[in-house]
Amino acid sequence: MHINFEQIYQLAQQWDQEDPLRSFRNEFYLPQKSDGTPKIYFCGNSLGLQPKLVDKYVGEELHRWATLGVEGHFKGNPAWFNYHRILQEPTAKLVGALPHEVVIMNTLTVNLHLMMISFYRPTAKRYKILMESSAFPSDQYAVESQVKLHGFDPETAIVEVAPRSGEFTLRMEDIQQTIYKHADSLALVLFGGVHYYTGQWFNLAQIVEAAHQVGAYAGFDLAHAVGNVPLQLHAWGVDFAVWCSYKYLNSGPGGTSGVFVHERHASKQELPRLAGWWGYKEETRFLMKKGFEPMQGAQGWQLSCGQILPFAAHRAALEIFQRAGMERLRAKSVKLTGFLANLIQALNQQAGQELLRIITPADPEQRGCQLSVMVKHNGKQVFNQLLEAGVVCDWREPDVIRLAPVPLYNTFEEVAQFAYILGRILNLVTKSTIFFRFAFFN
Ligand SMILES: *Cc1c(COP(=O)(O)O)cnc(C)c1O
Repeated sequence: MHINFEQIYQLAQQWDQEDPLRSFRNEFYLPQKSDGTPKIYFCGNSLGLQPKLVDKYVGEELHRWATLGVEGHFKGNPAWFNYHRILQEPTAKLVGALPHEVVIMNTLTVNLHLMMISFYRPTAKRYKILMESSAFPSDQYAVESQVKLHGFDPETAIVEVAPRSGEFTLRMEDIQQTIYKHADSLALVLFGGVHYYTGQWFNLAQIVEAAHQVGAYAGFDLAHAVGNVPLQLHAWGVDFAVWCSYKYLNSGPGGTSGVFVHERHASKQELPRLAGWWGYKEETRFLMKKGFEPMQGAQGWQLSCGQILPFAAHRAALEIFQRAGMERLRAKSVKLTGFLANLIQALNQQAGQELLRIITPADPEQRGCQLSVMVKHNGKQVFNQLLEAGVVCDWREPDVIRLAPVPLYNTFEEVAQFAYILGRILNLVTKSTIFFRFAFFN
């Protein structure tokens, strides 16, 4: 069985019509080409699009500020004093946590430092941190500086797990073996949830299990995982996690960040931490007394009063996730990204060679929305031509294009259009004459 691009479009349009989430696309502003038609935006892994609802919620807070001034802290619903609270419940649902295990505050790297102050307490014997090789640079710098802060040498205190030679992604058994190997000297396993470069989704439950077996804490940076893949942080026994809100969560550039602290730690008053007044017991905070007494739960790590404007944008974004539901999003995502992967393989088949190598795992259980595609020839030029054709994706040196069709606002038709544009750039296809094997589209 064969199929041509016209038929692929028809199939994609049919899937879009059947998509229970299709109306969510209308809730976002879509960047446009000069002719006024929407670009193909596959960059939600880097900066998610703006929900229209952000206008309303941010607008309300601007209005409150304009009309009430300082009284906004205690007037209105929710008052600024409590604003972070309405973010807890939807956040807890999104990451599989109890509401008191999460808090929204600060920005990602700041929160990573705050968590490491509490959970990286090295001793002469147990001082190592294990992480994935080529982690996001901010995480590398954070870890390096924490190790130095405690007087250790990053060369010996940071252990990295790397892909085997000729491979691009990590094997679970290698992560586990490295944990067992450093057992007694390991203080903390700090991993990404989904790797920013390769798109690999790690098995967090198994990483936690191995870390706990050797007596180490397990913490995660979920920047590329939250809003992308289903999470069960509480059930998996994760010690702590942090994430940002501007990638898959669509809460705007520089948006606020989330923190998870498992309840078995969250109420431990004695856990060392950096403190600020907003983490102080709410009932007596305004007595302004000496001597820090933390709130119960993750809220006890708050430093400063709430960042109301970023919180308002985040509120809008979380509300959309609540309505769409992570289960439905994930189901669509598997199909959408699978469709893209199949079309890329079809282009390779058309070329008779692997011009486009997908380095992201093929197993849907090991990836989220994102596919990282290594381009064999003239990658940067191909990328630039995609941009010119109205595709927004990103380039990672030396030869990788990251593509993230997201289930909230991308469509199957866009995936088909993208494949056609890419096929044209590579001189592989025309609309009606070139056929692919039908098996790819089952
Ligand atoms: C996006 C990202 C960051 C960015 O950190 P900010 O503090 O928000 O600038 C850090 N770590 C990872 C893994 C990321 O993907």
